[in-house]
Amino acid sequence: MGREARTDPGKFVNGAYDETMRSLLVLLTFLGGFASAQKISGFDAGALDRNADPCVNFYQYACGGWLAANPVPSDQSRWGRFDALAERNRTILQGILEAASANKPGRSPVDQKIGDFYASCMDTKLIDQKALAPIQPDLDLIQGMNAKTAITGVVTHLYSIGSNPFFNFSSEPDSKNSSEIIAGLDQGGIGLPDRDYYFRTDEKSVEIRKQYVAHLLKMFELLGDATEVAAKRAEAVMKIETVLAKGSLDSVSRRDPTAVYHRLTVKELISLSPGFDWETFFKEMGLPGIQSLDVSIPPFIRAMESVIVESNLDDIKSYLTMTLLHDRSIILPAKFQEEAFDFYGRILSGAKEMRPRWKRCTDQTDNALPDALGERFVEKTLGEEGMKRTHELVAALEKSLGEDIQSLSWMTPKTKQEAMVKLHAIMNKVGTKDHWLDYATVRIIRGDAYGNLSRTDEYEVHRQLEKIGKPFDRTDWHMSQPTVNAYYDAQENGINFPAGILQPPFYDNKMDDAVNFGAIGAVIGHELTHGFDDQGRQFDAKGDLRDWWTAQDAKAFEERSDCLVKEYSSFVGPGDAKLNGKLELGENTADNGGLRVAYMALMETLDGKEPPKRDGFTAAQRFFLGWGQVWCENITEESARLQAQTNPHALSEFRVNGVVSNMPEFQKAFACKTGQPMVRYPACRVW
Ligand SMILES: [Zn+2]
Repeated sequence: MGREARTDPGKFVNGAYDETMRSLLVLLTFLGGFASAQKISGFDAGALDRNADPCVNFYQYACGGWLAANPVPSDQSRWGRFDALAERNRTILQGILEAASANKPGRSPVDQKIGDFYASCMDTKLIDQKALAPIQPDLDLIQGMNAKTAITGVVTHLYSIGSNPFFNFSSEPDSKNSSEIIAGLDQGGIGLPDRDYYFRTDEKSVEIRKQYVAHLLKMFELLGDATEVAAKRAEAVMKIETVLAKGSLDSVSRRDPTAVYHRLTVKELISLSPGFDWETFFKEMGLPGIQSLDVSIPPFIRAMESVIVESNLDDIKSYLTMTLLHDRSIILPAKFQEEAFDFYGRILSGAKEMRPRWKRCTDQTDNALPDALGERFVEKTLGEEGMKRTHELVAALEKSLGEDIQSLSWMTPKTKQEAMVKLHAIMNKVGTKDHWLDYATVRIIRGDAYGNLSRTDEYEVHRQLEKIGKPFDRTDWHMSQPTVNAYYDAQENGINFPAGILQPPFYDNKMDDAVNFGAIGAVIGHELTHGFDDQGRQFDAKGDLRDWWTAQDAKAFEERSDCLVKEYSSFVGPGDAKLNGKLELGENTADNGGLRVAYMALMETLDGKEPPKRDGFTAAQRFFLGWGQVWCENITEESARLQAQTNPHALSEFRVNGVVSNMPEFQKAFACKTGQPMVRYPACRVW
């Protein structure tokens, strides 16, 4: 469980690089390492393995030198050039936070907040000294329940401080009418990474479940329970979570937007789960007049009802206690953090040691006060030239995607016309926000790490819920500006590029267009293509779930998508990590479409003039190397398996080879021959 990312992830938001697992383990696993001042460039000739044949294994050719020189650091579960950039951003944030945390008179209100939040998180001596005192009132509230009728009140309190037992609850645009913001109630409440972890029968999965129960037992022991009591409580938590998991929808099925949308009246919700006092919950959360909402997965609510009805009250107390401990482990005494790391970091991800405290507290502050820190970060990093060239790239990529759509042989003119309307309506948000959140009402008290986290969580929970009934604010973001990622939001019909990613290896002022188009250009193309992947294509220009495809075109799309499902399902990564082509379909469609459209845009920009070779490579070769080197990454076997099972993105090696082997443009650039591994037959192509 750990703490979820603070900004609402959004149901139909697709990033370039998935953060699910990272937010799950946020502050427990690692991004950073040795390279705080490492120089990163868009293309690095030293990263190549010139002994490899680009037509046999292009990833090895583009990254082999880098891979050999950059093993996974002991406090990481993976280490890639992507992570090196995140690490550099983190170092910039650290500088801002260290300066703000110096307790000098005359600090600005924003510096007081970010500085004292960070300083409180860093003060492990005080945290250890206080021991359980800060969390005790919340634990007592759970322990003090004397009847099941008390559950609603306690769950409501936990929600208001940002702990999420049983379910996830926030606001969202209505899938069928995105101009209306409604309440959304979704599955949640489990401590393993995904519902399938509770049911897989292979040896490794059975072992992980055993280790998870052992971890729960130790957490209860740390709270002071005798071993026999702790063992019973751990079993109870596992039993409850297994029932919730059973009622949850698997992640492949969740890709279907209609499968996760059920607008019900509050009365209908109550009939699914009369054991929970929904009306009181809504009222206490500040939504007294609510009439209807999206109950994403009705069978999940029935599963929750069966937990409330069939479990004894002590078991429910154990479950709520564990949810709170997981959600708060970062600011609990060291022994709790070490135990949480042992399971989520070491066992699930294969990291060997915990990240240094400053990295975890920096992430924690970025998570809790994203705009206060983000505004400073943007001031320090994003230059005018970077901003200007990125906007030009977006325009070039949108133009090329339009030409690509027009030229498709499998799509009829009617659907093409609708696709063009949607493409032209895409909103571009690049590198900064129109308005920054104001945290004036959030009290940050130096030395009160627990209270600070509860109050910032409370602020965010209510900020999200206050959107209900108001017009859709398309200018809001789901990621903080220092984040190394980007996303397309189907309901917003918008692409979003935080300042954090507009730097090398993605975008480099000193690089030629070829490298930049292959790196950030392909990521822009990737996000645009999400509007037209298996999920995104079901939403229209306004962000509403509406079928604008002719039956014939939809069928042709599915046949072509199926080629990608088969291709990626055939890949096996480190630790016998088998890729799931269905889970990854949207991302692989976006990678393939994105790189193709970026290539078209580069060719248009070069306008038939071949620039002189650089580092011995043609522009086309540098374009593909730009793409390949973004993904250079070493990964532990544990982390590779975790990613293959839960993450909609392919492992890095296949993000490179899976795409280039489908592209005749690549084969021409490196003079590959029919029958070589990087010349796939039949090649897959959707966009
Ligand atoms: Zn994506």
